[in-house]
Amino acid sequence: MKILIADDSATSRVLLRAALLRWGYDVLVADDGTRAWEILAAPDPPAMAILDWVMPGLTGPEVCRNVRATHREPYTYILLLTSKNTKTETIEGLEAGADDYVVKPFDEQELKVRLRAGQRIIDLQMDLLRAREELRERANKDLLTMLPNRPAISAALEMELARCHRDKRTVGVILLDIDHFKRINDTYGHFAGDAVLRETASRLRGNMRPYDQVGRYGGEEFLVVLPNCDLEQAKIQAERMRNMLQATTMRVDGAEMRVSASFGVTVSDGSERNSEVFVRVADEALYKAKAAGRNCVTTLTVQESRHRNV
Ligand code: GH3
Ligand code: MG
Ligand code: MG
Repeated sequence: MKILIADDSATSRVLLRAALLRWGYDVLVADDGTRAWEILAAPDPPAMAILDWVMPGLTGPEVCRNVRATHREPYTYILLLTSKNTKTETIEGLEAGADDYVVKPFDEQELKVRLRAGQRIIDLQMDLLRAREELRERANKDLLTMLPNRPAISAALEMELARCHRDKRTVGVILLDIDHFKRINDTYGHFAGDAVLRETASRLRGNMRPYDQVGRYGGEEFLVVLPNCDLEQAKIQAERMRNMLQATTMRVDGAEMRVSASFGVTVSDGSERNSEVFVRVADEALYKAKAAGRNCVTTLTVQESRHRNV
């Protein structure tokens, strides 16, 4: 674990550094408060800091207050080192945001166990951050296909619409739906159906530009978001996906099956920022593709959709 020592006394720095190295810490050293703050504010800062109280530049409590004001994660555990041992000063140090303090000249054993207590806090907090990250991941993921789920892909579309609107570019939107999927379930069973969904997801994901996104929008429906794409390019991409889905059979539970999907394609036109509008138009196009016999791509613009529906 990385730990920062900030102290203007060279003797104190040498003593502290030697002890910390012996205990297995990676040690960074600052000889005044300003430098300490620079180190703590930089990317990937040490998880712990031992700050002297009185230093040129910023004092220990001032550095503390600066660190706390950033509300940065992960947490920096701060131990104040002080020759001041009065109650008021202890309170002042803790109020500045220090987690603990040790009185100078420090007792090695005491410092060692106090650092270990700090390390426990840091480990706990890391566990919490990891758990929170995992929850966030799960909340955005469809656990069958491991693709973004409906809220996540809708949010991605919303974000790309805002971004492309700003840059005066268009976003291609594709909604696709597996053809006669119910038959697959009925013939081979629900587990085989699940496997087909996973294989479809993997084929779709394997055939996109790195900045395109695909999510599971519903049961056997997938939404594809293509930033900086016009209708023609989006249509070409949909054709590519359609081909690659039905070109080779899927092997599920020992059975070979040919799976196809129908595709509805539309594009943002700058007049509209609500993602739902584009999904609705793509869905209308998808419906036309189904009506036209399935396993095909149909395009529809927002304008055309408005005309159709007046
Ligand atoms: P169409 O070509 O018109 O799209 O016909 P379809 O049979 O694909 O469409 P329909 O909407 O009639 O049936 C979709 C089926 O997808 C019904 C539902 O039970 C099934 N389904 C939805 N989610 C899942 C899932 O997670 N796993 C499996 N195995 N089946 C699912
Ligand atoms: Mg279907
Ligand atoms: Mg469907």
